[in-house]
Amino acid sequence: MAESIYLTAEHEALRQQVQRFVAKEVEPFGELWEERGFVPREVLLKMGSLGFFGITYPGSYGGAGADALTNLVFAEALSQSTFGGFIVTVLVHTDMASPHLARAGSKAQLDRYLRKVIQGELITAVGITEPGAGSDVASLRTRARRDGDAWVLNGAKMFITNGVHADLYFIAARTAEGNSADAKGSRGISMFIVEKGTPGFRVGRTLKKSGWLCSDTAELVFEDCRIPAENLLGEENGGFYALMKNFQTERIALSAMAVGHATQALRLTLAYVLQRKAFGGVLFDKQAIRQRVAMLDAKNQAARQFLYHCAWLVAQGRDCVREVSMLKALTGELVNEVMYACQQFHGAMGYMRETAIERLTRDARVLAIGGGATEVMLEEVAKRFASA
Ligand SMILES: Cc1cc2nc3c(=O)[nH]c(=O)nc-3n(C[C@H](O)[C@H](O)[C@H](O)COP(=O)(O)OP(=O)(O)OC[C@H]3O[C@@H](n4cnc5c(N)ncnc54)[C@H](O)[C@@H]3O)c2cc1C
Repeated sequence: MAESIYLTAEHEALRQQVQRFVAKEVEPFGELWEERGFVPREVLLKMGSLGFFGITYPGSYGGAGADALTNLVFAEALSQSTFGGFIVTVLVHTDMASPHLARAGSKAQLDRYLRKVIQGELITAVGITEPGAGSDVASLRTRARRDGDAWVLNGAKMFITNGVHADLYFIAARTAEGNSADAKGSRGISMFIVEKGTPGFRVGRTLKKSGWLCSDTAELVFEDCRIPAENLLGEENGGFYALMKNFQTERIALSAMAVGHATQALRLTLAYVLQRKAFGGVLFDKQAIRQRVAMLDAKNQAARQFLYHCAWLVAQGRDCVREVSMLKALTGELVNEVMYACQQFHGAMGYMRETAIERLTRDARVLAIGGGATEVMLEEVAKRFASA
């Protein structure tokens, strides 16, 4: 019998294929990548050749043309890795950056880039956040000025995942301001495609993080960076709406990470407390411990069902900003609640760098901050109370 009303035999086959890949190609090497600070390109190319980077993209470019549920099966299976830095390297490419191209790209842009993106030959990054603008996306200040047959970009982007190792960057910049009609409301922001190596574009500095150590994170700088006029991605001044639309895909992926981390942490903790001897038995004998693990498992199972429901809403083409915002807030907080208890039940061992639980605890923290902080997500929910 199927595990869930949402899942088919094909989904299960994909899950097993991804899990095998994670067990064989990721878990034995993750610690080395954490030391180096990035995931080797050969691994990403291998994932591309297995079709993992084109799940929802058109068959004409080498994708599988599948829906949001299949995409979630991939993200959740990937999130069984205990290396959050690896997971986010991939999910930024598949679910946060490249969808900008796939959704808004012109035929010429798709022809030029999409096949290579799907094969892993071009790795992507998305630059929205700036030193002075994070949650408040509409206040971003990087500017793009039209000059003949080019756009000229000036400004800086901050905390950009795949910032150093990407080849193709999707950058949000202001193209209209003041009281002009083009800048009214949330208009005035546009998206641009910037190729690595474009003069005037450079990595300012790489950033040292508390977790996600094998994911590279950087500041990007644009100084009179001239890009061809045809690198405008989507509608001029309509970038804010494109960003908001893409946030649903991004937030489901981040929630899949949260549920995946919590699942792994509970699995590791259960195994640990079942064998750790104390007070004439094992830690699992303590009701306080086993009941806490049971309750956290219950919460995580419930969150997982909601995760699938949200992907189903997306697959049905329904408006689900409220549900996805709830999901992101819920899972970003829950995974940290789970990590706190799981690290606690590992005792001193859980504080040691050599344990997966210590890494998962560091990796999970950002899931309540990045891609929409919990409070910002709850505001998205609350402002829809009035219209409910
Ligand atoms: C490891 C990492 C990778 C990232 N990767 C990328 C990337 O690839 N591309 C990209 O563009 N960005 C990326 N980001 C940026 C990330 O999305 C932002 O950090 C996030 O949106 C929050 O913005 P901020 O850090 O400026 O926080 P601020 O906007 O300064 O907010 C600080 C805190 O204030 C609180 N807060 C904010 N607004 C409200 C509100 N309205 N009501 C109540 N409380 C509020 C929240 O607790 C929030 O955490 C990344 C961040 C990290 C840490």
